Amino acid sequence: MQAQWHVIWVLFFGVGLKQKNDYRKIVTDAQPTLPVSPPRTWAEINLSNLRHNYEAVINQHQGCVLAVLKAGGYGHGIAEMAAELEKINSSSAPKFMGVASVIEARQLADAGINTRIYLLGPACPSERKEIVARDWTPCISSLEEAEDFNRIAAARIGINPNTKLRIHLAVDTGMGRGGFLPESLVENFDALEKLDFLELEGIGSHLPSADEDEVFTHSQFEIFDSLIESLGIERFRFRHLANSAGLMNYQSRTTNLCRPGLMLYGISPLAQYQSILKPVMSLKSRVSLVRNLPAGHGISYGRDTVLEKDTRVATVGIGYGDGYPREISAQHAKVWIKQQKCSLLGRVTMDQIMVDVSNLPDCVSGDEVELFGENILVSEVAQKANTIPWAVLSGITPRVTRVYINA
Ligand SMILES: *Cc1c(COP(=O)(O)O)cnc(C)c1O
Repeated sequence: MQAQWHVIWVLFFGVGLKQKNDYRKIVTDAQPTLPVSPPRTWAEINLSNLRHNYEAVINQHQGCVLAVLKAGGYGHGIAEMAAELEKINSSSAPKFMGVASVIEARQLADAGINTRIYLLGPACPSERKEIVARDWTPCISSLEEAEDFNRIAAARIGINPNTKLRIHLAVDTGMGRGGFLPESLVENFDALEKLDFLELEGIGSHLPSADEDEVFTHSQFEIFDSLIESLGIERFRFRHLANSAGLMNYQSRTTNLCRPGLMLYGISPLAQYQSILKPVMSLKSRVSLVRNLPAGHGISYGRDTVLEKDTRVATVGIGYGDGYPREISAQHAKVWIKQQKCSLLGRVTMDQIMVDVSNLPDCVSGDEVELFGENILVSEVAQKANTIPWAVLSGITPRVTRVYINA
């Protein structure tokens, strides 16, 4: 879903979109003689906020970082996020970039990213040859998988035959999505160690409810730490368990690598830590029309909203076709216009929404609207849409222009 944006524009420090009216620069195929319109709906991606959040990760976790960039960097642009994180000075820069699939791994490789690439989930058999050839790092859930990788690694050409493929062992301590069950890892460990062309470089597990169930999560930390202690902590160069919520709220005796995703993008899965982060994405659009409508007039599909009084109604050029969740309809959602929260009226349509601007007599067509960002948290939008911020961010569609700012 990500990445085919026609238009990517990096604004440097001090130059804001508002001051800039030469939009031709961001429209690569514009004909020189024709006027070019500014994007109607865009996601402003603040790179300096990304650096701030990375700093917060470092302050929270004594160890190194696997930056989670799957789903197009949670909708922020996988290559842009990776490039920015790679610029961080070498001692604290991420050790790995975490992606969901070989397609995403390739996007990073094609963008010239040099940081090691880690595949967060199991690979299909047909993907393994490419993973080995490119020296990406898979996580392994079974002996059969490891044996297949070992066979492919033995046969790989063009790479020093003495270089083993570095893999991480996944352990299922309760997620139920992948990994060896702890007892099965112990049973299979000798066999895994005997695979000549694999280096068991790391071991990891995942937390299903670090933001919901502290007792269960503590038990996972205990299982994971004890397992590593029993196998020998020095056996694994990288030991990792925590996602964002895990690294904010829990301590491990053995881990030395964390895997933050959401937190990097400035959203905390635990509300009490939101103040240490700065949202990276602001989803913005513009008022396209303002009208006064009489009491009794219906608004949007289904007419489930009928105006109780005469109302000043702004139409805004964004809808679920941009990833603004349709489920938010009728949930008293707010948008931010001219320093005020204004209420959504009626259902979200594919390309447009309607907003009550009765309290903003000077609101006119062309005014900027924030759907979420620094004034309205994406977490609030997600909650009203009965979903989670991860889903809203990664669901912003390709037609939304990503505008990179550095201020
Ligand atoms: C997505 C993912 C993460 C990041 O989770 P956040 O809650 O966004 O920090 C970490 N580890 C794995 C295995 C993941 O799939």
